Amino acid sequence: MSDSTVRIALVLPDLLGTYGDFGNAVVLDKRLAWRGISSEIISVNFGEAVPDSCDIYVVGGGEDTAQTLAVRHLRDNPGLQRAAARGAVVLGVCAGIQIFGEKFTRADDVTHPGLGLIDSVSYAGGSRAIGEVLAKPANGLFEGFLTGFENHQGRTELGPAAQPLAHVTVGTGNDGKVEGAVQGKILCTYLHGPVLPRNPQIADLLIEWATGVKLSPLDLPAVTRLRAERSKAAGQRADA
Ligand code: GLN
Repeated sequence: MSDSTVRIALVLPDLLGTYGDFGNAVVLDKRLAWRGISSEIISVNFGEAVPDSCDIYVVGGGEDTAQTLAVRHLRDNPGLQRAAARGAVVLGVCAGIQIFGEKFTRADDVTHPGLGLIDSVSYAGGSRAIGEVLAKPANGLFEGFLTGFENHQGRTELGPAAQPLAHVTVGTGNDGKVEGAVQGKILCTYLHGPVLPRNPQIADLLIEWATGVKLSPLDLPAVTRLRAERSKAAGQRADA
């Protein structure tokens, strides 16, 4: 591998992979290849040291027990935190957004410390948020709509250092109003799908952050059609 290879760490897919979130790493890898940029996916499983030398870290969602094991492992093996401190790109999905915050309180009312990567706290909501989500990007961060599927008990409150990723039109996201978080090069969302195949403009944003290369759009008619159908379906629900 040459030095210019983009290294994508797929973090704890054995614990945080319930919803096919490993697909986010596959999308990054594929979209880099389509741009002629070499890349590799490095899976880091439970019990293994977390490297601090990767360019992009992808963390998925999972149940409360798996999430608690994951946060303990990541606190004991702080490679991800070291990488984030030097500006590596990090994507966190659902359990990911909760783990990255200062602390999270589970549905059983037990509070665990997070990794302190983003200015947020998470707590258990009164009901489970399940279903399709449609949200408008915040701060012109990316084009079009954000769509995805959510399934979580937790809710997340952002502090002043973290910006929302999007504003919720349909669904719950963090709290019924905003969805996800962005702090530096750390981007979090509650959305599965996985989120990057459904929102490739976010995949390209992460690649641009990691490489410093301004990407031109890819011409993929099937992806464009799928996104249009998803947005239309979610929009019809919003109008209902
Ligand atoms: N266990 C967390 C919750 O229920 C995260 C769920 C998930 O990652 N989908 O809120």
